[in-house]
Amino acid sequence: KKNLIVFGTRPEAIKMAPLVKEFLKHSDKFDTKVCVTAQHREMLDQVLSFFEIIPDYDLDLMKPNQNLYNLTSDIILNLKLVLEDFQPDYVYVHGDTTTTMATSLAAFYSGAIICHVEAGLRTFNMKSPFPEEMNRCVTGVLSTIHFSPTETSKNNLLRENKSENSILITGNTVIDALKFSVEKVNTTNYVDQQIEDLKPLIKENKRIILVTGHRRENHGQGFINICEALKQIALDNPNTQIIYPVHLNPNVQKPVYELLNQVDNIKLISPLSYPAFVWLMDKSYLIITDSGGVQEEAPSLGKPVLVMRDTTERPEAVDAGTVILVGTDKTKIVDKTQKLLNDHDSYSNMSKCHNPYGDGSACEKIVEYIFNH
Ligand code: UDP
Repeated sequence: KKNLIVFGTRPEAIKMAPLVKEFLKHSDKFDTKVCVTAQHREMLDQVLSFFEIIPDYDLDLMKPNQNLYNLTSDIILNLKLVLEDFQPDYVYVHGDTTTTMATSLAAFYSGAIICHVEAGLRTFNMKSPFPEEMNRCVTGVLSTIHFSPTETSKNNLLRENKSENSILITGNTVIDALKFSVEKVNTTNYVDQQIEDLKPLIKENKRIILVTGHRRENHGQGFINICEALKQIALDNPNTQIIYPVHLNPNVQKPVYELLNQVDNIKLISPLSYPAFVWLMDKSYLIITDSGGVQEEAPSLGKPVLVMRDTTERPEAVDAGTVILVGTDKTKIVDKTQKLLNDHDSYSNMSKCHNPYGDGSACEKIVEYIFNH
């Protein structure tokens, strides 16, 4: 069976890397090739290097001032050549990016069987021009096989009339990636300059609050509110150290550097490579983020997460009690953070919750399913 695994952004790379490795373990049964669109270039390359994956096709499509029109058409046109060259039986896409949606469309034209990893997440809020929900839904329509992380995501697909036997609940492959990574960064011979640079910030008497944020829906006033909340938290809690790897998007960089650069116990840094980020998550006391992947990873490390969004396509985490939605309201972000810093019981209840996103065996389940397909 010929597999083509396609991804383009950092989170997709993290979540597809363990699947690539699992298929490559079974190279007697599968001919597996990797194609990257490089929708993110630098952040993608760091992940490839950590997981030791060399793409068979690198479309290198990232351009300055890239827009969704160009990116979508470039992906479709370039993928055509890859599909004609390799002629895969199965094409694997992940999640909800432009790479995911455009690749699915190209694969559909080629007649390959499309397998959607992390299928069935929904916000039920198709808000133009924010592309994620549309990307998920379109990919769901085009896919033949849906690998859903949870029962909730499976039920979303059943409601859209997907057949029961086209869906497999696997857990999220991000937990597979996390397991591999925690083990690798903690081996004695693992050397990482970013981790060395972080070590002086980790002091025993200071609790670490790790912050990340990038979503388009928070650009503008959202990020201004978030920054004001972080400033307040830092001023009220001199015994905490906020560490914030700032996303490269200028809409994020500008407000964050303007509003937070001069605050004593806030350290703004460049985005971290995945292994350094995993290492830092593990050292943190709590995490404030709008990231999807971080919400799934953090519970496996016992870290409570405050999510700076009003809606989520990950309700399982809210139900399990591992995350709290705080939106971008300054008071709410400050109040919930104070509670977790000061109320030991609330903190320990959250940090002990079971991770609803699985146990790190998602990729094994996917490979076995395809073997029997
Ligand atoms: N991440 C990283 N470096 C950072 C921030 C996040 O490697 O500085 C990782 C994180 O562990 C998670 C993924 O990137 O696996 C999340 O990516 P992002 O927040 O960009 O996207 P989302 O998950 O919201 O799609």
